[in-house]
Amino acid sequence: MSVPRAGLRELAPYRSPQPPADVRLNTNESPYPPSPAFREELADAVRQVDLNRYPDREAGALREALARHTGHPFQGTWVAGGSNEVIEQLLLAYGGPERGVVVFEPTYELHRRLAWIAHSPVRPVPLPEPWTIGPDDVERALAARPRVVFVCSPNNPTGNAQPVGVVRRLASASDALVVVDEAYVEFGGESALPLVRAHPNVVVVRTFSKAFALAGARIGYCLAPPQVVDDLRRVRLPYHLSALTQVAGLVALRHAAEAGPVLAEIRAERDRILTELRAMGVRAFPSQANFVLFRPEKPAAEVWARLLERGVLVRDVSEVVPDCLRVTAGTRTEVDRFLETLEEVLR
Ligand code: PMP
Repeated sequence: MSVPRAGLRELAPYRSPQPPADVRLNTNESPYPPSPAFREELADAVRQVDLNRYPDREAGALREALARHTGHPFQGTWVAGGSNEVIEQLLLAYGGPERGVVVFEPTYELHRRLAWIAHSPVRPVPLPEPWTIGPDDVERALAARPRVVFVCSPNNPTGNAQPVGVVRRLASASDALVVVDEAYVEFGGESALPLVRAHPNVVVVRTFSKAFALAGARIGYCLAPPQVVDDLRRVRLPYHLSALTQVAGLVALRHAAEAGPVLAEIRAERDRILTELRAMGVRAFPSQANFVLFRPEKPAAEVWARLLERGVLVRDVSEVVPDCLRVTAGTRTEVDRFLETLEEVLR
């Protein structure tokens, strides 16, 4: 029997329960599929791909289109298979043995997991409710002398955005790479992108999975100083981005304007969830993302199971935020169904 690396068998495979349900509000996807026009154009683009050839290793056309879309220089623009892969590549390049990685917790579990996978020691800085990173937390993070610091804004699963000043202070008081995970920035909060131009050690990571409604396509990107992109090029797998993914990204950017009205609807549903939960007497936390964290009076696991029995799937995050569940802002109909079902369950 071969023996894997120490600690591997204690690491459970990534798991987020996906049981069948009528209303799926558990993974912060967009409830609206991409438009018919997008699908048509994508089908045409896919027909023209030369699948017998390797894809463009540099994903040049997609990165150029993304640079135009974001206003960030091409040399600092990088794309990979979901923002998860971007984060993994950043950790392969900037983490490693004895290179500490700070995570402000509770936060997105993959930061810690991918740091471990990249052999980096994790230095958690726990935050009290309402989970805003304050000056003392910044000092605690700096005291750990990290090589990488994650700031998730808006934060998953709590929904609050972090002050951009925190990123500025972390970046100017250390030479750690400050990775700002902005997976939900299109829904609210202030972007740290202006800091990327001013600091050689700030990177903003974003995704097509949420606001672009393309979770199934696996496209994520980062906007970084050119040197960081140059370093990512050294650790990525050759041809890490398939030709199919590259054309999907290009077509998505041509249709980017369609996202605007959809985003407004999702934000409105998010705010309605908060208002209605509070009206029901449920403790719910303000959110700048496309989901809401809430703490029912009854045990979270029980509420989760009762909702599921009635066809509504949310996320049980009680292991990271005690007694809490997280619900994604869906369509108006889905949100109505969630609110009615929750009321029934809590009655
Ligand atoms: N960052 C955060 C904060 C997330 O919540 C998620 C998705 N749940 C991701 C990154 C990963 O997104 P993707 O790999 O689909 O781009």
